[in-house]
Parts: sequence; C-alpha cells; structure tokens
Amino acid sequence: MSTKYIFVTGGVTSSLGKGIICASLGRLLVARGLKVTVQKLDPYINVDPGTMNPYEHGEVFVTDDGAETDLDLGHYERFLDINTSQANNVTTGRIYYDVINKERKGAYLGKTVQVIPHITDEIQSHVLKLGQSGNYDVVIVEIGGTVGDIESLPYIEAVRQIRYNVGRANTLSIHLTLVPYLSAAGELKTKPTQHSVKTLSESGLQPDILVCRTEHSLDESIRGKVASFCNVDIKDVIESIDARSIYEVPLLMQKEGLDTRVIEKLKLETHEPDLDQWIKFVDAVCNPSHKIDIALVGKYVEHHDSYKSIVEAFVHAGALNEVKVIIRWIQSDDLEPGNVIQALAGVHGILVAPGFGGRGIEGKLSAVQYARENNIPFFGICLGMQCAVIEYARNVCGLAKANSTEFDESTPHPIIDIMYDQKNIENMGGTMRLGQYNCAVVPDTFAYHAYQDDQVKERHRHRYEVNNEIRSVLSNNGLVFSGINPERDLVEIIEIPEHPWFVGVQFHPELQSTVSHPQALFVDFVEAAKKQAGLE
Ligand code: GLN
Repeated sequence: MSTKYIFVTGGVTSSLGKGIICASLGRLLVARGLKVTVQKLDPYINVDPGTMNPYEHGEVFVTDDGAETDLDLGHYERFLDINTSQANNVTTGRIYYDVINKERKGAYLGKTVQVIPHITDEIQSHVLKLGQSGNYDVVIVEIGGTVGDIESLPYIEAVRQIRYNVGRANTLSIHLTLVPYLSAAGELKTKPTQHSVKTLSESGLQPDILVCRTEHSLDESIRGKVASFCNVDIKDVIESIDARSIYEVPLLMQKEGLDTRVIEKLKLETHEPDLDQWIKFVDAVCNPSHKIDIALVGKYVEHHDSYKSIVEAFVHAGALNEVKVIIRWIQSDDLEPGNVIQALAGVHGILVAPGFGGRGIEGKLSAVQYARENNIPFFGICLGMQCAVIEYARNVCGLAKANSTEFDESTPHPIIDIMYDQKNIENMGGTMRLGQYNCAVVPDTFAYHAYQDDQVKERHRHRYEVNNEIRSVLSNNGLVFSGINPERDLVEIIEIPEHPWFVGVQFHPELQSTVSHPQALFVDFVEAAKKQAGLE
C-alpha cells in the first residue's frame, strides 16, 4: 500500500483547534492498526520557533533528535504515542533557508529562482520525504495559518501540486471551518464556511471533508446547506462541537464518522478501532474521584500555552492516579519571602517551571525554600531544578551569594554555570543542548522508584548546568545526584532523600508524556501530592 496523504487546512479564524483535529484523526487511524505520522507546516519566516518567546508562540516542543518545533507536535505525540522529529515540522523560514543555500551552491544551474516552482518544489519534497521513508501508511499534514493568508499561498499551491502528482486517490483534503451561532438571530450561520471553501477552491483545492467547529449541534438542514453550497457529500460534513476535554475529541470525531469517511475515501485496509484504553482514560479525566492542587510557579503563567506539555503531563499522571490536578498558576515575579506562605497556602505540590533569564528568580527561590522547609512535594524542571540547587547552596550549604552565571556573572559561587561548549556560541537559533541524552539513574532514589530503570533517556533544552567544579559542596551537604549523564558527567537529577518528594531534573520530562505512557516522574510527583492531600 503506498503512503496516503491527508491535508488539513483551516478557514475563517485561527484557534479552531486544527492540531487537535489532526491528532484526533491520527489516533483513530492508529486505533485501526495503521502506521501514522503528522506533519506541521508553519507559514512564518523563523527557521524554527526556538528563537520566539513564549508569549509569542507558547511552548517550544523539543523532539528526540533535538529539533525545536511547534507545540502541535506535542499533541501529535501525546495522542498517537509516537516520536516525531525535525522532519515533522517545516516552516517558511526553513524552506527559504534550504532554497537559498542550494542557490548559493549553484544547484539551480543558472535558473532564476522563484516561488513557483522552486519554493513549492521544496515544500513538496519536505512533505513527500515522510511518505517516502516507507514507515507510514498515512501522513497527515497540518497547514498552519488560515486560508486566504498571503503567507499560506505557497503551501496551498504545493498541496494542489502534490494532489495532482500523487493522484486524488492517494490524497485527501480536509478543511476545518467555523459555523458561528448568532444569538441575536438565534441561528447558526454557514456563510463564513461557504466563503472559506470558495477561497480554498480558488487556489485549486476542493475539500473532500469539512469539519465544522461549532458551539451548537448542526441539524440536518444546516448540514445540507453546507454540503450543497460547498460541494461535498452531506456525510462529509462533520460536526466538531466543544468537548469536555481535548482527549474526548477523537471519540466525538468517531461518532461523527470522520475516520470511516477517511478510510472509505482513501480505500485503507483497517480493522475495527480499538479504543478501550482511550475511553477509560477519557472517563478518568472527565469524572475524577478527587482533586488536588499543584502550584505551577513560572514567569509566563498568564499564557498557559507556554507550559502546554507540563499541563498535559499532569492530565496523564492525574488520570493514572485517579485525581484531577488543579493547577494554581503563580506568577514568580510577584512571589517573595513575605507573601509566599499566603500564595502557596494549601497546595499539595509545587512545580517550579523551566525558563530563561533573571526575571522572577527570587520568587522561584522563595517557592523552593517553602517546599523544602515545609515538606511539600516539589518538582523542579530545568530552570526549576537550577533554582532548587541555588536555594540549597544558599540556605543549606551556607553560600549566601550562590547563583547561576545566567543571572549574575560575577557571583562568587557559580553553582550553576554555562556549559563549556556553550561559551563561545554566537548564533542563538538551534544551539542549546537539545534533544535526547542518556541518564544513569541511581538505585534507591525517588528517581529510581519512578523509572524502575537505571538507564533512561530524556529530552533537553538548556545552556547552563550544575557546576562540576564545585558540586561536591552540595553532595557533602546531603543533596543527592540521582541521575547523571554518563558521557559528560553532567548532573541530570537532584533530590533530597529525607523529604516526602523533592526532585529536580535538568531535562524536560513533560515532553515524553503521552496518554498511553504517562511520564514516570510526573506519576510519582502526583502520587506524592495526593498523599499530601490526605488521599491514599
Ligand atoms: N535558562 C536555563 C538554561 O539555559 C534553563 C533553561 C530551561 O529551563 N529550559 O540552562
């Protein structure tokens, strides 16, 4: 069976949840035994989102191979239980970068290099590469942005060309659109969908299936209207109504027949979907027996997407522990020793988040100290782990001016320091310690209890590290290094053994948590917080 391609475009407005629809369709096809991956095409000029700040773009999702990618790849991994890579995320910046590099090498043999055909050819080759790997039955391609945007045009044209070249039988076009409800008229309105489909058709792409986001159920007459004006079969008008949880969307899509329409149209050979585990998981998420409160201390907390994978890892670990984790968002800028008790009162766990730069650091240190001294389960991730180390150095080891050289270059006790291979780096894009590295886990530790393994691999994104030259001051004072990168002797996990649960990790465990495989440290952290709440 040759690889089939499903292209998903969006119309009318952004934020319709195209990523979730792609991930949901992917899950339904995986549940039928197909090998599926999802690719995101982003129309911006950044080569990758790694240089964008979290307010601009939300979390940067890092893959095993060290690519800094769009957060939608996180949804694909969490829903499909797959690993993505650099090949799964392509931006306009990357396409132009590759084309310009080829041009400089003379690869275009004297031709004038143009958007059509050279840019569209480059897009095509990036899309087809995944299929040509022979690893997938289906590649779902999410086209970022909204139909009608100037920057999306080369992508739509490339998709049109792929459909022409690969053949209609091997490709499908799904368009996600909005059917708004006008309360003044008391009616659902189909006109924006009609216009969106018209715009798409003008670019040569006729959708095969329409997924209509709506706050109210679509009745037969609305479906009929959409079908006839947009030139699709009424069975191909799929309602996507607001769900209780994003994880319910695959089940709603199945009820609407999205997967059956797709397999019929692409003539895919599949078995009946096996969704038993998924249904149990959704039930646990939507009907929790208990709730616990966990503080998430960070400086981008107004923008929850900055911590997307952490939020989702809590959903996975919560379901396994039969609790719902309620996140108390704490702005680290506002936190200080004087108000920390009030701000964190009653929480059952404290997570200090990843981040960059000095803003809010003293607040994070106050949160760490509060957790350490009051025996509240604590989880520090990346910068959060570095804060735990600084706090320990200052308040337990007596090095009052200990700091990271990221915040104070002339600190007398640089307990966190820049890694030697990061010192002379000038380009900011793609130059951190990125992607998956080994971690040897020490037996009889919180970390070992969670992983049940002495060799694990986790994903990284950082420039600073625990300073090996002076790290013995920490271990001499009782801090345990329970995870070490064997190749470079870097501290990967720290913990305080006599605390109920106090763990800091230099890596980003949240990036590997999926519905089918909740991340082990999150599972144990939530379990410890559950105990803290008096629930066993
Ligand atoms: N700013 C810190 C570093 O670069 C932590 C990074 C992070 O939290 N992802 O090492």
